[in-house]
Amino acid sequence: MVNKFVNKFANSKVQSIGPSASSSLNDKAMELRAAGKKIVNLTIGEPNFDTPKRIKEAAYKSIEAGFTHYVPAPGVSTLRESIAKKLQNENDIEVDPVDEIIVTPGAKFAIYLAIITFLEEGDEVLILDPSWVSYKPLVQLSGAKPVSVPLHYDDNFKITREKLEKNVTSKTKMIIINSPNNPTGRVFTKEEVKEINQFILDHNILAISDEIYEHIVYDNFKNISLASDPSVKESIITINGFSKSYAMTGWRLGYIAAEKELVKEMVKVQQHLVSCATSFSQYAAIEAFDCESEVNLMVEDYKRRRDFLVSELNSLPGFECRSPEGTFYVFAKVNYNGMNSEEFSQYIFENAGVLVTPGAAYNDNECIRLSFAASMEELEAGVESLKKVLYE
Ligand code: PLP
Repeated sequence: MVNKFVNKFANSKVQSIGPSASSSLNDKAMELRAAGKKIVNLTIGEPNFDTPKRIKEAAYKSIEAGFTHYVPAPGVSTLRESIAKKLQNENDIEVDPVDEIIVTPGAKFAIYLAIITFLEEGDEVLILDPSWVSYKPLVQLSGAKPVSVPLHYDDNFKITREKLEKNVTSKTKMIIINSPNNPTGRVFTKEEVKEINQFILDHNILAISDEIYEHIVYDNFKNISLASDPSVKESIITINGFSKSYAMTGWRLGYIAAEKELVKEMVKVQQHLVSCATSFSQYAAIEAFDCESEVNLMVEDYKRRRDFLVSELNSLPGFECRSPEGTFYVFAKVNYNGMNSEEFSQYIFENAGVLVTPGAAYNDNECIRLSFAASMEELEAGVESLKKVLYE
C-alpha cells in the first residue's frame, strides 16, 4: 500500500526517479537465494575477488593507530599526494594534490557532488545512452534535465560529433562521459576522445569523465583520460575510485580531480553533506597504488571468463555480442521471438533461472547486460541452463 503521506511530503524530484535497477536486482537475487531458490546471478556490479591483503592490513593498522576520527574534507593529504602521482603517471593529468583533488565516499557520491554543485533547474546535461543507471536520476535530483544522446549496438556505440550536435542547446551545461563503459564495455578511441574534447571546448560546457573501470581493460585497449588534453583540462571533472580496480566496493572510496576553482565549490558541499570520506579507508587506500600485480591477476581472470562467455553466447540462438574492450560486462543484442530486453530477461529468468539486467535499465531495450564478475562455475552453469531453454 502506498503511504498516504508520500504524495504530500516526498520531494517531487525524488518522486520523479525510480529505484536503482541494478541494486534492486541484486537484492532480489540475494532474497531468492536466501529462500533456497537455485539461480545464476549475472547482474553483479562488483568484483567477486577479495580486497588485496596489503590494503586490509593497512586498514587494521590505521584503526589500531587511532585514525578513526574526522579528517580534512578534501581527504587525507598523503592519499591526495598518491592520487596526484597516479594521475600524472597513468593518466597524463597534472593536478595539485593540495587543492585539486577531493576524496569522496565512493565514485557515485563524487558524481553526485559534481552534479549538485554545478547544476540547477533549467540546465541540460548530455548523457550518452545506453548509460549507467544512476546518471539520470542524479541529474534529476539536481533539478536539471538529462538529455539523451542515443548510441547503438550496430555501430558499436560509436560517438560522433554529429550525434552530439543533434542534442545540444543553449541550455546545455554539462556532458557525462563514461569510458570504459558500463554497460557497453566500450573504451573510447583517441579519435572519439578528441571529438568529445573539441565539442566541450566549442560549446564551453563542463564534463564529468567517469573512469572508474580504467584498469579493467583487455587486448591492449587503454583508457584515455579526457583531461590529459591540457587545452580542455579546466572543463573536465575526472572521477575515479577504488571499488572496481581493487575490489573495494564496501570501503566506499572514490575521488575527483578538477581545476582548483571547481574543487573549492565542491569541497563546500562535501563539508556539509558528509564532512569527509571514511578516515581509515583513506589510509588503507594508499596501499592500493602498489597493487599492480593483484590487479593484473584479477584482469587476467576476467579475460578468461569474458572469452568463455562471449564465445558461448554467440553460439546460442537469440544472442549476438562483441567482446567487451573493458569492464566486466557483456552487452548482448537480443533477437529471440521478437522479445525486447525486459521480456527476454524475464523469460530466461523464469525458464533458465538466469538473472541478467535488461538493457531497458540503461535506456536500450534491444540488449541485455551479463556480468562476468561471477565465478567460472556460475558462468558455465548459466550457459548450460540457457542452452536447455533456448534450444527447446
Ligand atoms: N560509475 C560507474 C559507471 C559504475 O558502474 C559504478 C558502480 O557500479 C560507479 C560509478 C560507482 O562506484 P563506487 O562504488 O565507487 O560508488
